[in-house]
Amino acid sequence: GQLWSLLLVIGVGVVITAVFIGRRLSEPLQSLTTTAQKIAQGNLKERAEIKSKDEIGELARCINTVVDSLQKKNVELQEANVKLAETSIRDGLTRLYNHYFFQEIIGSEYHRAKRYNFPLTLLMMDLDNFKDVNDTCGHPFGDFVLKETARLIESSTRDTDISCRYGGEEFTVLLPNTEIAGAYAVAEKLRQSFASHTFHQDDLSTKLTMTVGISTLAEGGINSKDDLIRHADSALLEGKTRGRNMVVSWQELVTWEKIVSKEEKESAERYRLRFQSAARGIKRAYMETSLALEKALEAKDGYTATHSYLVATYA
Ligand code: GH3
Ligand code: MG
Ligand code: MG
Repeated sequence: GQLWSLLLVIGVGVVITAVFIGRRLSEPLQSLTTTAQKIAQGNLKERAEIKSKDEIGELARCINTVVDSLQKKNVELQEANVKLAETSIRDGLTRLYNHYFFQEIIGSEYHRAKRYNFPLTLLMMDLDNFKDVNDTCGHPFGDFVLKETARLIESSTRDTDISCRYGGEEFTVLLPNTEIAGAYAVAEKLRQSFASHTFHQDDLSTKLTMTVGISTLAEGGINSKDDLIRHADSALLEGKTRGRNMVVSWQELVTWEKIVSKEEKESAERYRLRFQSAARGIKRAYMETSLALEKALEAKDGYTATHSYLVATYA
């Protein structure tokens, strides 16, 4: 009987010890498993609790070390991704948005403006006779001019305006929520600040001008972002033909072309009858005189470049 009692006590003792040891082992293991599952699901902020100094404690420590380095790598990767995304939309020389980004943003701004009936205006700029700068001062100085041009553009525009390097020495500014009058003022401010700036580096210095073309969503014939770009480009080209260093809008160009074609038809008729071919020479001579007067005026008052050109030509 006593032996049975002793065996029973030992048996109960063994069971209690087994349960106790089992709990001591299974609880931390369970908690470690739960933590590992959370980490596996991508929760890298999760850490294992280190309660003991045995193998389980060591395992928890190892898991934490792995997750620490994983999290660090993850942060580095995210930062690298942000940098990469930023680099792919920026121009390496000027840090303005590049051509690729310009095409993307003008597409989305075009659709947004169309959908909500917001105004949208585009400025397209090309530096005048920029080839001469490279030829006389060298390519590195040309690069310096382009970088400084980008800073001038940025300081003449608002944060909401989107300035891009469209090509070599061509720049665009997209002006969301801006009507033609506001855009014209921005363009004129840009043209003036550019013309009055002296580009200076080491012993080299130069002054430059730019021509600006403007197009806006409000004008007719715009059915895509490409039409908006095409119109600004044509206006810019017209500015180059008229003598550079001026702002020309597509709207004004269209009006102008209508007037010119009508006038030329009437004049040609009259000239054919009265002066025949001599008339062209006379007309050209008059044009040159009035253009010389206009240039003289422009030298004193650059603001009215386009205006004086038109007045001279009408005259
Ligand atoms: P226009 O008034 O008719 O615009 O004359 P332009 O000389 O500015 O015109 P053109 O387009 O013929 O010349 C542009 C020049 O810009 C040619 C090219 O050498 C220069 N260019 C383009 N990209 C760069 C660049 O990244 N760095 C430098 N330094 N020059 C560039
Ligand atoms: Mg040029
Ligand atoms: Mg060019």
